Amino acid sequence: MIDLRSDTVTKPTAEMRQKMVEAVVGDDVYGEDPTVNELEKYAAELVGKEAALFVTSGTQGNQAAILTHTKPGNEIIMDNESHVFLYEAAAASVFAGVQSRTLINENGKMNLEEMEGAIRGNDIHFPETGLIWLENTHNRSGGSVLPLSYMKEVYSLAKSNNVPVHIDGARIFNAAVSLNTTVKELATFSDSIQFCLSKGLGAPVGSILAGDKSFIREARKKRKMLGGGLRQAGVIAAPGLHALKTGIPQLKEDHQNAKRLAKAIDEHSGFTVMNQVESNIILVDTKPSGLSASEWIKKLEQVGILAVAFAPTVIRFVTHRDISNDELINCIYKVTNLEY
Ligand SMILES: *Cc1c(COP(=O)(O)O)cnc(C)c1O
Repeated sequence: MIDLRSDTVTKPTAEMRQKMVEAVVGDDVYGEDPTVNELEKYAAELVGKEAALFVTSGTQGNQAAILTHTKPGNEIIMDNESHVFLYEAAAASVFAGVQSRTLINENGKMNLEEMEGAIRGNDIHFPETGLIWLENTHNRSGGSVLPLSYMKEVYSLAKSNNVPVHIDGARIFNAAVSLNTTVKELATFSDSIQFCLSKGLGAPVGSILAGDKSFIREARKKRKMLGGGLRQAGVIAAPGLHALKTGIPQLKEDHQNAKRLAKAIDEHSGFTVMNQVESNIILVDTKPSGLSASEWIKKLEQVGILAVAFAPTVIRFVTHRDISNDELINCIYKVTNLEY
């Protein structure tokens, strides 16, 4: 099976498993796991923040960030297709007691005037804006990349209103590679950032939340509340550290593969590629074929390709490091010859 459902399906490499075996460990709730400490230090430096926290998942990192930045009764400005709004089981409302203020997005970008108009201050009627949320790359719009200039504008708007900015950077390394810049540069325009080790970088488990020292000190407590205080976590931090140190260059190839595959898909009479393909995600409209996404998912599975339905007539394909060049060529051949 050529599994293009997500980059989360990547499996730990032999080296990662070796790192797990060799990991020096201690009790991380006591702050005594050397491997976790090394990962947190390395990650903080890489993204240019004072401190970092190893969390079990992207969702846990995002929620720890929300709990740290906001108070119950606050409002978070986010885009209407953000992961935090659609796919985190309303955790922000349940745990942090905050309200989501969603704005329409275009390729992951919210309109700046609308954003300015949505910021609410201290009034007896209002939930105060506690946080502005950006997602980069933006999953629902097909892995589109928020450029540096946009992030800078959002950040300066937020700062002039005394509101912090969080980046849901589950795939921020894809954004950096696509923009030919560093995550450090992108993270400049944020107060906190979350990124996944377990997606394109290939680690089996975990994410990082980074920010300044006092933010991370508080987030560490929130992580405990969320059940994320782990003991000998070095065994899962070790492959994460290895993934972070070695996995970034591969993303460029994933993006090239996505472009190659997208071209073949777009040439098929039944499909239209909907997005620009700026990173490793391809969104495909199946309407020209007259068939639904789920009908195509079944057909694809019969020829050995896995993808997911993203909407009734939209399929998402995600390229990643576990797709070899031969598999990609094979996949392109199969897609090209699909009949309906
Ligand atoms: C995957 C993802 C997350 C959550 O990560 P999990 O590790 O699955 O909890 C958050 N935001 C975005 C944009 C994602 O793609």
